[in-house]
Order: sequence, then structure tokens, then C-alpha cells
Amino acid sequence: MQALELLAPPGRALPCVAEGPELYFSESPRELEKAKVLCRPCPLRASCLAGAKERREPWGVWGGEVFVDGHPVPYKRARGRPRKHPHPPLPIDVEEAEAC
Ligand code: SF4
Repeated sequence: MQALELLAPPGRALPCVAEGPELYFSESPRELEKAKVLCRPCPLRASCLAGAKERREPWGVWGGEVFVDGHPVPYKRARGRPRKHPHPPLPIDVEEAEAC
């Protein structure tokens, strides 16, 4: 991340430098989604993503994408086995209920 500090616009830190590696390499899918959002306005986003693809980064958020085993994935699952019985869909339309 030290090299990225040199590429930041004057007076502004890149989001990944400002937030630190704990967020961008977190095990929490929620935190990784936050990191993806923070990447959106980054001026280096396109080159960051291209470089991560070329290097086949094994993990972390690069260029607004989550990488797993060298490839960008839409969403990283949390650790552990998926739920055996996923939550059932809500029996009513939530928007309709909130309008009441
Ligand atoms: S696009 Fe790359 S350089 Fe920019 S904030 Fe995200 S990880 Fe950092």
C-alpha cells in the first residue's frame, strides 16, 4: 500500500490507504462490500483492477472487486457451511406492510 500513497491525488489519500488493509482483506463479506463501495470514486480503479487480474490476486478487494483464488467474484461467502435451512421468504410484501 505504500506505493499507492505516491499515486494518490495531492492532499487526498486513496480510500484503501485511508481505511487500511483490515477492511480490504477482511474475512467479513459485509466489510468487503463496504470496501467495494469505497473504491468506486478512486481515480486508480481501472488500473488497480487490471493489475489485480494480471497478478491473479488471491484475495482482497482490488479495483472495486472482491478477489477469491485469483479471480473477481460478485460476492464472497462468509466462512463456514451454508445454512441447511435458509430463511423462508417473508409471507407478506414488506413494502406493502410498511405503507400501512
Ligand atoms: S481501486 Fe485500488 S487503489 Fe483505488 S481504493 Fe480501491 S483498492 Fe485502492
